[in-house]
Parts: sequence; structure tokens; C-alpha cells
Amino acid sequence: MSRGSTYNKYSVRNKNNNRKKKNNIITGLIMAGAFIVALIIVINLASAGGKKNDNKPAETVVASESSQEETTTAAPADKRSEALKTAEAQAVQYDYDGAIKTLESVEGAESDEEISKLIKDYEDKKDSLVAVSPQEVTHVFFHSLIVDPKRGFSLTDNTTWNKATPGFCQWMTTCYEFDHMMEQMYEKGYVLVSLYDMVDITKDADGVEHIEGKNIYLPKGKIPFVLSVDDVSYYHSYDDRGCASKMIVGEDGKPTCEYVDAEGKTLVGPYDCVPRLDEFVAKHPDFSYKGAKGTVALTGYNGILGYRTDPAYRDKDEDNLLDDQIAWLKEHPDFDWDKECEEAKKVADAVKEDGWTFASHTWGHIRIGDSELDRIKTDTANWKEGVEPLVGNTDIIIFAHGQDLASWDEEYSESDKFKYLKGQGYSIFCNVDGSTKYFVQIGDEYMRMGRRNLDGIRLWQAVYGGKDYLSDLFDPATVIDPDRPTDSSLYQ
Ligand SMILES: [Zn+2]
Repeated sequence: MSRGSTYNKYSVRNKNNNRKKKNNIITGLIMAGAFIVALIIVINLASAGGKKNDNKPAETVVASESSQEETTTAAPADKRSEALKTAEAQAVQYDYDGAIKTLESVEGAESDEEISKLIKDYEDKKDSLVAVSPQEVTHVFFHSLIVDPKRGFSLTDNTTWNKATPGFCQWMTTCYEFDHMMEQMYEKGYVLVSLYDMVDITKDADGVEHIEGKNIYLPKGKIPFVLSVDDVSYYHSYDDRGCASKMIVGEDGKPTCEYVDAEGKTLVGPYDCVPRLDEFVAKHPDFSYKGAKGTVALTGYNGILGYRTDPAYRDKDEDNLLDDQIAWLKEHPDFDWDKECEEAKKVADAVKEDGWTFASHTWGHIRIGDSELDRIKTDTANWKEGVEPLVGNTDIIIFAHGQDLASWDEEYSESDKFKYLKGQGYSIFCNVDGSTKYFVQIGDEYMRMGRRNLDGIRLWQAVYGGKDYLSDLFDPATVIDPDRPTDSSLYQ
């Protein structure tokens, strides 16, 4: 389990540290050597200026760790090279103000020729940025990825589709498809921004959030987009469908996944959107604006992130449990709810630390448009009891089933459902609108945004159904998984 492996890792680290102490001289020599190498790398990097290739950041991280270990009070030269590295990383992600501030903080910056040159360079780059209105930001979303299409799109026998297969074909995207989409979007100049990059949010004396649209400044040719991932709960219904089984904290402290393969072997790796996108951004930092990642929208009824954290699992009251939940509890007699919550919280913290944000997807995956207000109240209370303690407060709600709380022509902020949810702290409301590039409405108390489903149904329609809503993002024909079934009955 993840907890065990995390603990083991720490104990391995401690052992290494003890050994280090016993071999002071050798360690000292190695450290000194590493420090010199680190310095050389830093100096080379600094002289390379803004021209950085994608493999460089890994080296700079090594350099910074070595120099931090070596000196408790960093010498000015170390501070200077640290600052140059930080500034470069900020500039690559379009944060020129941040980069300039970092450089200006270096002692003697005014008389440092190289720093003055870099500041000038960043100022020029900043001046050449182009404003993009928040109304022109496209928002794409996924569900958990299918790792093994043969299992995700499986047959019950050779002639009949498994009854869950149409749903999986329509709503899910495979790892293959996700990777190709990100790759092609990156090539086209797309840059990942956060929902919070699109708005300024201020709180009044009563704690009510007020919203104002905000332009995003990017180099010419770059196109901002927002990304979200729904239902990262690894529902019981996903079992044996070739998806990850849970998210865990990896050995590097970053979120990753557990996946049980067709042979029943548990593997650890980037088997879903969060770690997969993280890896892509690590390789291409300029794909992310100021470090932005996506938004993870969570329900609560089956727990979160693959952990059975809903209080119903703790209470084991069969009246409040579905058949698959009862079956799961029977298969796990040693289930410890407190420990489960502790693990889930650790993963949620790592996900947030990594630049992602969490949103409510409603606790029960309810149809917000069809539901009575009372149902919405109970559902919201459930989310706040079962999910919020683990992922923290959020002012983002991403509605399920593509519904919205008001119809398109209704005055959004006048509806009772809006007033209730606003009172519960929500200010950013997302629905699904897969047929237009962007749908963004900004009112005094809300931002309402449509999202585009980059899933099987859209891919199938684009490639085989004569309805292409995707080609501004990527080429659907080269993105679609060759292992995805093409039978049209699955996509109706
Ligand atoms: Zn959903």
C-alpha cells in the first residue's frame, strides 16, 4: 500500500543519512565535487540566457539541491545563481514580472551587467505579450483515462458488447489519446491556464466573492486553455475496466497512480490525467502558464481518488450503501476508515501542492437542472461533510451530466439554485458545451463556463460521424486510439 511504501522510503533515506555521517570524509569529498559540478552547470545555464532546452531543468534541480545541502547560509554567489535559475524558470512559464522581481532581489543587481541584460530581455518579452480575453479561453475536460483499451472496451463474448461498454466508449479517453492530444495541442501553441487566471476574485465585508474578468497575457501565437478532470473517484463500477485503481503519493512526493493490470499485478505509474499531465509539463514547462495545472472535480458517494472515504463506508449502514459498496466492504473486512481518510488527504495535499485545484462535482453526481432545491441542499451538505475535509474549501462547482442550474436564457444569478450555491461559497460554475469553442459568462458574483468533452464520442463523431468539433485543438484522426472500437452502435 502507498502508506507502507512512503514510510519505507523515509526509512531508507534515514539509513542513508546515518551512513553518510559515518563516512564523513568520503561524503565531504563527493559533496565538494558535486558542488563544483553544480556550479559549472549553473554558470553554463546562466550564460545560456533565455535559450533553454527542455532537458535543462532536471540538471538545475540537482544543482540547487546540492548547493542547499552544502551551505546553510548561502554565499552571495550561490544566491545569485539560484536567483538566475528561478528567474529563468519563471520566464519560461511567462511570469516575466516574477522573473524580474527575482533578479532585482539579488544583492548588487543594479551593477551586475548580466542581470541588467536579463531584466531588459524579460521586459522586452513582457512588452511583446498579447492580451487574450477570458471570453476566449477554451475549457477541455476528461474522465479517468483508460490504460488498457482491451479491458475498458471489453466484450462479454465475441458477439455482444458488455453492457458498460457503450458508456466507456463514449465518455472515456485512453492514455494513448490523451498523450497525443496534449502533444498536438502543445505543438499548436496551446498553453494551460488556471480558472483563477481568468478572473480577479475579491471578498466583500460579508465574505461574498465578487468576480471580474481578467485578460491573460501570452506571447503572440500562444492560445490559453483550461483543463479539468471529472469523477476521479475510481468508482467500484470502474473495477476491471482497465483504469487506474487509485492515486497515491509517489516516491518523489508527487501524485501518481496504482494500476492493477490484466494479470492482477499492481503497477505504479502515471496511469491517469494528473500524473500524465505533470510529466508532460515537466518536459515542456512552457505548456503551463505560471505553473497552472488542471481542476479535479470530485463526487463523494464512492469516496475520492480511489479511497473509500465516504462516511457511509464507516457507518456500514446497509440502508445507505449500494450493492457494490456492500460487496466491497465484505471483501475488505480489515477496512479502516480513519486510515483511508488519512491516505486520501495525503494524496489530495500532494495534488494541490503540484498546482492542481479541486472542485465539487456534486456529492451524488446529481442532475442539477432536474433536482429540487432540497435535494441540492442535502447533496451539498454531503459533499461538505465527506469531501471538503479531505480536499479543502473550493469555490468551483463542475456540474454532472452536462446540466446547469439555469437554462441558457434565464438570468443566472436570479435562480434559487444559484443563490443557494453562492451562499455555500461557490463562484465558478462549469457545465458542458462541447459544440462551441468557448462559452464564458462573467457576472458580478459568478463565472459560468462551458467545457468541451475530449472523449470517445467526440473523437468517433469527428473521425467517423462527420461531426468534427475538435480539429482546432488537434487532428482527431491521428489522435484516436487504434484499439478503440469503431462500431457505430456504441456511440449512439
Ligand atoms: Zn461526472
